[in-house]
Amino acid sequence: MGALIADVVILTNIPKVLSYSIPEGVSPKVGCRVAAPVRKATRIGVIIDIHEGTQINQGLKDLICVLDESPFITSELIELITWTSRYYHAGIGPSMALAFPPYLREGRTITIDKDPVLFRTNRIHTKTGPHQKAILDSIPDTGIRLSVLKCRIPGMAGKMKGLLNRGLIELKEEPSSYVSSCSPTPGYTPDQQMAVQEINKAIKAQRFHTYLLHGITGSGKTEVYLATALEVLRHGKSVLYMVPEIALTPQTIDMVKSRIPVEVAVFHSGLSPKDRAKEFMKVAQGGVNFILGTRSAIFSPLKELGLIIVDEEHDHSYKQDDGIPYNARDLSILRARNNQAVVILGSATPSMETYQRSRLSHSSLITMPNRIGPAALPTIEIVDMRGVEGPLSERLIMEMNHTVSRGEQVLLFINRRGFSAAMVCPGCGKVLKCKRCDRSLTYHKAKSLGLCHWCGFTMKLPEICPLCGCLDMKPIGMGTEQVIASVEKTCADKRLLRMDSDEITSATKLTTALDAIRAGNVDIIVGTQMIGKGHDFPNLTLVGVIYTEQLLHMPDFRSLERTFQQIVQVAGRAGRRKADTKVIIQTLIPDHPLIHSISRYDYLSMIEMEQEIRKATGFPPFSHMARCVITSAKDKTAREFCAQIASVVKIQGVEVLGPAPAPISLLRNRNRWHIILRSKNRGSLHKALDIIEQVRCPQEADLKIDVDPYSMM
Ligand code: ADP
Ligand code: ZN
Repeated sequence: MGALIADVVILTNIPKVLSYSIPEGVSPKVGCRVAAPVRKATRIGVIIDIHEGTQINQGLKDLICVLDESPFITSELIELITWTSRYYHAGIGPSMALAFPPYLREGRTITIDKDPVLFRTNRIHTKTGPHQKAILDSIPDTGIRLSVLKCRIPGMAGKMKGLLNRGLIELKEEPSSYVSSCSPTPGYTPDQQMAVQEINKAIKAQRFHTYLLHGITGSGKTEVYLATALEVLRHGKSVLYMVPEIALTPQTIDMVKSRIPVEVAVFHSGLSPKDRAKEFMKVAQGGVNFILGTRSAIFSPLKELGLIIVDEEHDHSYKQDDGIPYNARDLSILRARNNQAVVILGSATPSMETYQRSRLSHSSLITMPNRIGPAALPTIEIVDMRGVEGPLSERLIMEMNHTVSRGEQVLLFINRRGFSAAMVCPGCGKVLKCKRCDRSLTYHKAKSLGLCHWCGFTMKLPEICPLCGCLDMKPIGMGTEQVIASVEKTCADKRLLRMDSDEITSATKLTTALDAIRAGNVDIIVGTQMIGKGHDFPNLTLVGVIYTEQLLHMPDFRSLERTFQQIVQVAGRAGRRKADTKVIIQTLIPDHPLIHSISRYDYLSMIEMEQEIRKATGFPPFSHMARCVITSAKDKTAREFCAQIASVVKIQGVEVLGPAPAPISLLRNRNRWHIILRSKNRGSLHKALDIIEQVRCPQEADLKIDVDPYSMM
């Protein structure tokens, strides 16, 4: 019998699993991090298997040391990661790295701070400032965890010291199972009751099941998530609650923490590397079994998983663009199946994939067609913009004036920042383009610049057309700046707020802006998708959608579905508390069937229309798809390699579209070519990708494989 052997995945770009012998006297476990020699360097890796050595393992190097006493990740997670690596044709090393916060990938360790509980003392308080009073008022008789209070009252640490010094509050160590008191549950509506009952059946039976919770905006989906999460916790199991990046605001965190009676770990990219590692450690050590997080939380080391919630499941932020192009929503289904757990995919506008899947076995569709309370969905009015000058119709201006005069708020939504989509010469038709990206430069009037929204390149605008010398370059298309300019002209006395990524450049600015809206210091908001989703503004009663069909013209087979989702989400921002609210949709294609579906919030007619199109054209979900993008500084290299990989795929049932220049054929000075592979059979598609991976990629080129792609650009 030989020594024990550890199979190790190194957390870098090494594609293979490496084996090492385990030195005498050391007894590591699967899931522990180790330091191991790789060529002449020391690297950090994770043990994925331990077995007895045989003849072929002779002469292996020893592990240098084991970093963790108990494993960080379970076999279940190792299985998920191995699957991810195979499915997305990505290296096992980078895939494994997804499961670790960056701080821990480098081999560091971290100790978790204590989280004491804050109590009020019996001492009578005389003079306290407003901030100190707010803190005192937020402490229930049963006490509150410091971390929870910090989340509710940002920046409270300084004020708290004064209260401690005066003996008005005290801190006590409490076991990690301590639970602060929670806000009570509201009485459920019949829709909510039915949904909770249905989902709880699968939770009680502890069997894998997927629910599509299709509930209109404001139908109270969150209460269904919370109620079912509590049921799972009662069964001693853990919960993963995922939200889109844009929705993980302090308000969301606070709301969840105030309703869940156990400690909640929060996973998102806004945390400092150390705080991320701390949240991770709490979960890995088994002290926390509720996670609220964004996409990457799908790889978190929760044990005994009972429920995964994917809120706004149609949101594209669940798909990673760079690095490994995994989709956390899709992985949630796989992970739940491996754990006999339940998945809730919630949305007002479900993705076509999820809708289609809800008809399969182990899946059900639950609908919640009513809004909570008296607030009905806003009425939608279509305004034909053909022949109208400027971004605002008379109808919209009139409604804006009425709304503001009633003391209510208006949101104008436009899907592009800047002043116009492009600058064009009326003489020769030349469009000003980015030198590095072959995309038109967006005109930013305030800075008098052309800006590339893809790479950030800026250029001072020429006074004359560089091609024909014509004096009069004209802006075409529109963006936030132009809408703002127009509002300033027509509604000069109103208080305006611009919300796009030019204006809102930090989380603090976002919080300030959202607070200003809630405090009623704003009459009209002009914003991009930054403001289009998730937020709840009680006093917002009019939404104007400007250039509704903009997304529809993108070269993307999902453009119709995406337009519907985007507009219905934006419409859902209005009238979440009040009756009699309105959405005005300005469009150049008022007769398009899509606009008809939007005007009636008719998800089913949209999805049926779209299904027919996708069936006829063979796009997902009626086929499986992958995209290979080749980039190179030299166009010829990219083109030739693309042609080469297109020619090697000769598998029955796999269709190759291309080679063709990608819609963005030049990005940051790299030329881009692509092919798209489609097949009815997933296995055949993966076989084709395996073959492509075998072709040697020239040094000056890069090949990126994207399975189930979202971006076609
Ligand atoms: P959705 O996520 O479906 O758009 P939310 O979960 O945000 O809707 O709920 C909309 C609003 O209704 C929230 O302000 C929520 O607090 C409130 N709400 C939800 N359920 C109830 C209920 N049963 N009784 C009263 N208010 C509720
Ligand atoms: Zn560019």
